[in-house]
Amino acid sequence: NRPPQPPIAKKLPIAGVKQVLVVSSCKGGVGKSTTAVNLALALRANDPTRLVGILDADVHGPSIPKLMNIKGPVFVNEKNIMLPIQNYGLKCMSMGLMAGDMAPIVWRGLMVMSAIQQMLRQVVWGPLDYLVVDMPPGTGDAQLTLAQNIPIDGAIIVSTPQDLALVDARRGVEMFRKVEVPTLGIIQNMSVFQCPNCGHEEHIFGKNGAGELAKEIGIELLGDIPLTGIIREMSDSGKPIVISEPESPQAQIYKEIAKKI
Ligand code: ADP
Repeated sequence: NRPPQPPIAKKLPIAGVKQVLVVSSCKGGVGKSTTAVNLALALRANDPTRLVGILDADVHGPSIPKLMNIKGPVFVNEKNIMLPIQNYGLKCMSMGLMAGDMAPIVWRGLMVMSAIQQMLRQVVWGPLDYLVVDMPPGTGDAQLTLAQNIPIDGAIIVSTPQDLALVDARRGVEMFRKVEVPTLGIIQNMSVFQCPNCGHEEHIFGKNGAGELAKEIGIELLGDIPLTGIIREMSDSGKPIVISEPESPQAQIYKEIAKKI
């Protein structure tokens, strides 16, 4: 009883977009969206002449509007093509910006895919140096179709050091390999918790699991992002840390990772 599948489209480039990077996690709640937003901002912070956009393909749980502090309505141009909403220098598009009665939460596969297709093809993205795509979590049909449909220059996988997340991360790398998308590396999020009072470090989700996985399967560990209150607080208040605390050690980590991609 699978929902009807959308026709396989060719990997058509998106007009005016030089590079498409996808940020993927094969499990929910590991910090994929937080990482995607901070990376997109870091790409621009490293070189303010760069034009960067972020597409929220996590149609069931769009978090870009909150993270980027943006709201609809979305307007269209004279050709009926949607105009992205801009903040902090990024062009953004998300189903979360659309009217409430279009709530995508219960959408089935085909509708999800056509929503993603629309956000890719029916938005004035160009000119852009980088379009960062916040992928839906998982390695199911939606992710596979997406990876087959858009011209992806590189995939970045976010995982915690935990076994459970790692099993999925491995599956993610395998999925991208199948559709011939190069995996640029793994980001180990929530790598360590550092007590803000005494500085003691605690490996809540295990120690360096993603680093070991990266080594084992021969891909790069792009960086370790600690579990810190400030990352969550800044995300919750719609001012990601790369924007609100650009000199913080955490923001520096995102900027260092952005130099590698
Ligand atoms: P996902 O997109 O994988 O579902 P989110 O980016 O929405 O995950 O993150 C889940 C929660 O964890 C959010 O509340 C977010 O603020 C928080 N979070 C993510 N990364 C970190 C981090 N490094 N330190 C602290 N909190 C984090």
